[in-house]
Amino acid sequence: MSEPDRYAVVGHPIRHSRSPLIHGMFARQAGDRLSYDLIDAEPDAFETVVREFFAAGGKGLNVTVPHKRAAYQLAERIGQEAALAQAVNTLSLEHDAIRGDNTDGIGFMRDLTVNLRQSVSGKCVLILGAGGAARGIVAPLLGGGPAELWLANRTLERAHDLRQAFLGLGEIVVSSFEDLDQLPPFDIVINATSAGLTGVQPTFPGNLVDSGSFCYDLVYGAEDTPFVAWARAHGAGQAEQGWGMLVEQAAESYLIWRGHRPDTSAVLATLAT
Ligand code: NDP
Repeated sequence: MSEPDRYAVVGHPIRHSRSPLIHGMFARQAGDRLSYDLIDAEPDAFETVVREFFAAGGKGLNVTVPHKRAAYQLAERIGQEAALAQAVNTLSLEHDAIRGDNTDGIGFMRDLTVNLRQSVSGKCVLILGAGGAARGIVAPLLGGGPAELWLANRTLERAHDLRQAFLGLGEIVVSSFEDLDQLPPFDIVINATSAGLTGVQPTFPGNLVDSGSFCYDLVYGAEDTPFVAWARAHGAGQAEQGWGMLVEQAAESYLIWRGHRPDTSAVLATLAT
């Protein structure tokens, strides 16, 4: 029997990644024979690791923190979403060339609008953070037709750069965290900072949410994340973690690699319990 097709996720650190579990469940569901490993690569080693993986017959890689930008620079062909985000989370081979795609945005929107049944149309939306993940979700959010899209970041310059990069798609209002304290509550507040990973939450003003607000944390964990706890403490109507985005972006990677999209509901139910 031939060797199973090889896939992996590359990041640093990587040992806590749930991607092998998720892709293992997808493969069993479809009866696909494949392996999915963890590869820990420091930034200096990233390019070599990727090239050796594909040279040795590997079929596809997921890319996570801190390599998404490096993967964008390495890829010889680029999908539309990755070009807009300037970040790649999925690598594959296309006619022997390394192709880079970004499935974070579509994964996020699928979780928000399908699993969680939220509409962006006509809503006032706030994104906290302006890193790679924020870049991935801005274009699909603008495409959803919000009344206003605000973006606040600790480093203001990075937020202005992001606004500039997406000017052709729609208007984004840039702010510091501190200057948000006079605004009325937003309909949708999205945490795209990595601050919650360390368990330390920046001080976001409490006026940003009320009982009509839907809050979404890209960060996920076994307990309430600091942002979800903050949202609940300030009376947000609903606050969700990013498990669904994690599973949905993985399903989009699987579709790119294998040509069929897994059913995500059973996998999400297993992970989020
Ligand atoms: P980046 O490193 O590219 O960006 C980090 C962002 O967090 C920047 O905006 C940074 O601000 C901000 N930040 C970091 N620490 C603090 C702090 N102490 N106070 C305030 N702001 C802070 O990371 P990514 O954008 O790639 O990822 C962001 C988060 O999203 C991560 O936690 C990641 O795990 C999660 N994620 C989840 C996904 C999912 O499937 N659920 C998919 C992709 C990402 P500054 O610019 O000032 O440094």
